[in-house]
Amino acid sequence: MALHLYNTLSRQKEPFVPLNPPYVGLYVCGPTVYGEPHLGHARAAVTFDVLFRYLRFLGYRVRYVRNITDVGHLEGDADEGEDKILKKARLEKLEPIEVAQRYTALYHQAMDALNVLRPSIEPTATGHIPQQIAMIERILERGYAYVVNGSVYLDVERYRQDFPYGILSGRQVEELLAGSRELEGQAEKRHPYDFALWKRAEPSHLMQWDSPWGRGYPGWHIECSAMSIHYLGVPFDIHGGGLDLVFPHHEAEITQAHACFGPEAQNQARFWVHNNLVTIQGQKMSKSLGNFITLQEVFSGKHPKLSRPHAPMALRFLFLQAHYRSTVDFSEEALMAAHRAYLRLMTAYERLLEVRPGSYSTWAVAPWREKVFAALDDDLNTAAALALFFEQVDFILRLRRQEAFLTPDDLALFQQTWREVLQDILGLLPVLQVERSKWNQTLNLLLALRRQARLEKNFALADLIRDRLQEMGVRLLDFPDETLWEWAE
Ligand SMILES: [Zn+2]
Repeated sequence: MALHLYNTLSRQKEPFVPLNPPYVGLYVCGPTVYGEPHLGHARAAVTFDVLFRYLRFLGYRVRYVRNITDVGHLEGDADEGEDKILKKARLEKLEPIEVAQRYTALYHQAMDALNVLRPSIEPTATGHIPQQIAMIERILERGYAYVVNGSVYLDVERYRQDFPYGILSGRQVEELLAGSRELEGQAEKRHPYDFALWKRAEPSHLMQWDSPWGRGYPGWHIECSAMSIHYLGVPFDIHGGGLDLVFPHHEAEITQAHACFGPEAQNQARFWVHNNLVTIQGQKMSKSLGNFITLQEVFSGKHPKLSRPHAPMALRFLFLQAHYRSTVDFSEEALMAAHRAYLRLMTAYERLLEVRPGSYSTWAVAPWREKVFAALDDDLNTAAALALFFEQVDFILRLRRQEAFLTPDDLALFQQTWREVLQDILGLLPVLQVERSKWNQTLNLLLALRRQARLEKNFALADLIRDRLQEMGVRLLDFPDETLWEWAE
């Protein structure tokens, strides 16, 4: 089996074959840096971090481009409302670039905590104005856009004469018409579903650039087409993002690519990959519902829905336990369960590293390893891969107890698979060294006290220690010669 990815364009899983092996071009829509990073940012970043890590593991040379949107993203996601960064700057009395840099730094901090690797290139929209203008000029030359009062709009009706529109989202223009509202600035458009490539700026507008159409600023959609194509060519291998970006953002990107480069653009990217969203107790996360949770609030525990701080690895594990195309329902209970599962798995991994090889094997490692990679190859099914590791936790205990055996080669392959998949591909950090050593010392002290109590036939005290540890999520395993412990499920 080779890696298969679900392609939103074809609505099916397809074998992943790069256009120019061993190179792979991957573009993912990054954050609009006007507010603190939240659970939705983390889900997208972890999803594509695993894809990036796995492609590299498979031997590809990946150029991973993830942008920073620091201009042009309007409140309504379409051509309506105020620019999100400008609004924040106005409210906080800051320069727009101060807003962008502050929230970019907070985003990086949170992603580092989640062990999300930095992309190869992280371009900003404001740093690529000439590329965007060049693309818009070419779209105008080819007749797929028009200029009104210093703004440029993509002409969807004209485009539809030559290309199918709506191929990614499956939306029909007729549906769009029915859903469109009368909005400010819409009067300039020939059709309500045309969208802005460039917007004219009022003299008071804080972010504006010279262009062939006067002073203004780029539309949100053109940024991603221009930056992805500038660094990866067209078409490139994989374009990713959250499911909420399929329409209008990604549909507009495909339209722009065809309008600029013709049919050779081939949908801008060969694969369009989308991660599903995070819900909060079954509801969509939104500021208006009061269930909006930032990553800093998760890590610090300072949120009405949280009672204590949570480790970034618990959140990463919560996401990995689901398939990336399923929703993840966030709650403190789910997060704590994910943390216990993560600790249980990593403790088993540490115990595996202490196992000594035997002279024969009582179990075949290679077929199990194949199943693990088959799960990852099956559209990055991290949930199925993790389940295969959990199935081996008891086996590791038996290896450690010398009730089961692996030859040196089998043991090495088993240990290698745990390291490669858990650490290198899924990006799980080992339990913190400091945390572990303090915890181990305390636990060993309790186990020694319990052993002493049993020797003195004080079984009430021995049971008390066992029961209280059980409440803390630690299960004791008594053997005639020693007591081991593990994280309970
Ligand atoms: Zn984008």
